[in-house]
Parts: sequence; structure tokens; C-alpha cells
Amino acid sequence: MRLHLPGNWKSLARQMEPVPTIGTWLRRDGLGPRVYIAESLVAVVSAHLEHDTSREHGGFLLGKIVHPEGDDQATESVVRDCVACPMASGSLHHLTLGPECWQKVYRYEKASDRQLMIVGWYHSHPGMPLRPSARDEFIQRHFFAEPWQLAWICDPLAGTHEFYAMRNGFITAITNVGLEHSPQHE
Ligand SMILES: [Zn+2]
Repeated sequence: MRLHLPGNWKSLARQMEPVPTIGTWLRRDGLGPRVYIAESLVAVVSAHLEHDTSREHGGFLLGKIVHPEGDDQATESVVRDCVACPMASGSLHHLTLGPECWQKVYRYEKASDRQLMIVGWYHSHPGMPLRPSARDEFIQRHFFAEPWQLAWICDPLAGTHEFYAMRNGFITAITNVGLEHSPQHE
């Protein structure tokens, strides 16, 4: 697996703190929304995005929203599953999740008994900067506008990645990301 989590995972691993209700997470700056991603999902998404780096690929992220203890207003996104969309039209510089992709994720959501919701989308920027393109920002603003809805952008060639979400009207990098080792609240 070439996708590291995060890019400077080794130095961050020393800062890991246990969160009893969720698992283990990394506090990077303590600001902004928190994201947890199931450890097992990293390999699944990596494999999908590494299989073809000649163009962008992607899909949906599914999971749950939780409120951190003592703060009903704040939300944390817990990503536990994904729906790959090989039918999404893409090139080296863009990816479009068309109606057939949305149909696939809605069907999957309905058929699944895990009661997970769409918490965002992921896609590759092979050999390209991780920053969202203007089109990515458009997609985020119109389809994933909630602060807990994520854009996970990965460069499968460099093994780097970044999470983003809308914050104060702009697509903004999330620096508060952790791994969920074993889901406890299915
Ligand atoms: Zn993009």
C-alpha cells in the first residue's frame, strides 16, 4: 500500500491519543472538524486509485456523523465504507460523478443494512497537486456542502492525500484526521 495516512504519519503516530468511544485518532492541530477513517478503508481506496493512474478515478464515502462528548453542536465524520465509481467520466484533470454514479450509491445505501450515509467523495489527482480544482470546489459546494461532507483527494503516485470540507463558504483542508481501528457503533 503506497498511500500513507497521513503523509507524515510516523511523526504523528507519537501524538496518538485514545478516544474511548471511537478508537484512536491523531490530533494534528486540534482545530476544525474531525474526521475518522476506518483503517481497513485506506487499503480499499488506495487499491482503487492505484489501479489506473493515467486519469482521475473516484467514488463516494459512506459513514456516520457523531457528536463529540459534551458538544452537541460540533460534528465529526466517521468514514467506514466507500462506493467506487469506475463509470465516472474522468481525465487526467477532472472527474465527474454523473447520475449513474449517484444511482449506484443510492442503491448501495438502500441495500446495505449498516445504515451508513453519504459523508463525501474521494478521487485521485495522479501526479498532481492535492489542492481541489475549481470543478472540485463546484462539486463540493453543490453536492457536499455540509461541513461534515468530505472531499478526500489522494495522489496514488506520491502516496499523499488530504481531506477537505466546506468551511465558512470555502473548501478548506481538514487537519484533524484520525484512524478508526475497529468500528464500535455499527
Ligand atoms: Zn480533483
